[in-house]
Amino acid sequence: MRIVQKYGGSSVATVEKLGQVADMVAAARRRGDDVVVVVSAMGKTTDDLIALAKKVSPEPARRELDMLVSTGERVSMALLSIAMQARGIDSISFTGSQSGIITSDRHFDARILEVRPYRIEDELDRGKVVIVAGYQGMSEKKEITTLGRGGSDTTAVALAAALGADRCEIYSDVDGVYSADPRVVADASHLPELRLELLQEMAEAGAKVLNAQAVEWARRSNIAIHARKTGDSVGANGHPEKQTVAREDADARARAVTGLGRVVCASASDVGLLAALLTELRVPALDVSVDDGGQARAVLPLLNVPDWPRCEAALVAAGVTMSEERSFVSVVGDGLLSEGRSLPMFLRSLRDANVMVHAVRATPLRLSAVVATSAQGDAERALHAALVRG
Ligand code: ASP
Ligand code: MG
Repeated sequence: MRIVQKYGGSSVATVEKLGQVADMVAAARRRGDDVVVVVSAMGKTTDDLIALAKKVSPEPARRELDMLVSTGERVSMALLSIAMQARGIDSISFTGSQSGIITSDRHFDARILEVRPYRIEDELDRGKVVIVAGYQGMSEKKEITTLGRGGSDTTAVALAAALGADRCEIYSDVDGVYSADPRVVADASHLPELRLELLQEMAEAGAKVLNAQAVEWARRSNIAIHARKTGDSVGANGHPEKQTVAREDADARARAVTGLGRVVCASASDVGLLAALLTELRVPALDVSVDDGGQARAVLPLLNVPDWPRCEAALVAAGVTMSEERSFVSVVGDGLLSEGRSLPMFLRSLRDANVMVHAVRATPLRLSAVVATSAQGDAERALHAALVRG
């Protein structure tokens, strides 16, 4: 079997944890599998590197940020390969560009365009475990890029597709996907199975277990994602007791609540102008709409916009009105508009929890509200109680 495993930052946060990962990879290799391992940067390394850059300048250029933060994954890939070799396992580490991850040139938030994993194939043929630095790639112009926060997931899924892997396993400090963030909602329940379509909605709306672009790749390439907890022992079938398997054809209907911090609402009288500005400034939008009166509105997530003050100033100068930073809370599920009861319940439960709602977006798969950041936790708990548990 050919397996791609991805280990998140918390799984490689210390040398001890890295050793635990090396043991798990060695076990998979000794079972006879071909193994490609994608690693994130150790612990909070990426945050620390960004903070370091901001100490040098309040608005570092995105290209230089990419040069900086991409080093985080290089550290963990090399250390893991050293740990593998210390365990008598033949291994080699590769950067994103050596792995053939070709991306757009949108620095700090690049998209994978193509994967050419020739060197990985060669080394697998030689019997080696290949360790790949996640979250990074190279543009056609040979510039180093990164894939947006949490982008190591995307590396793993894209590689699994390009290598024709039998399985893509995503390891983190949680044993799969839950109906809400368990740190916020105490009675969040584990979802053993999930349709990729719903997982994508959840990821886009802020669920941190998996990166949205990764899920998009999984859908496009028909890859099943196994989300697992690092250190949970696997049985003879290679599966741990608890995990979430997300597949395109899973019929499991899930309802889940997500929360996304740091969003702003933009409003302009000319949608063409707004769209052109967002593209030029490289600011992504969660959604864009135009009402009957021609007023254009967009919800903008700021996670992958490292130079927001500059972008905001440019938007305001062009006549775009901007809200303060808020949170975006959502209920994700099937047929949320068709049965007609969900939206009224959604609104009522927020009102009963005294959560002030600034904007609402509703689609068949997702009901969302823009709320004050201070109300995000209360909103998530209220929505979970009313629409997931209730
Ligand atoms: N290290 C990067 C981040 O913290 C990528 C990742 O963890 O997947 O966002
Ligand atoms: Mg990380």
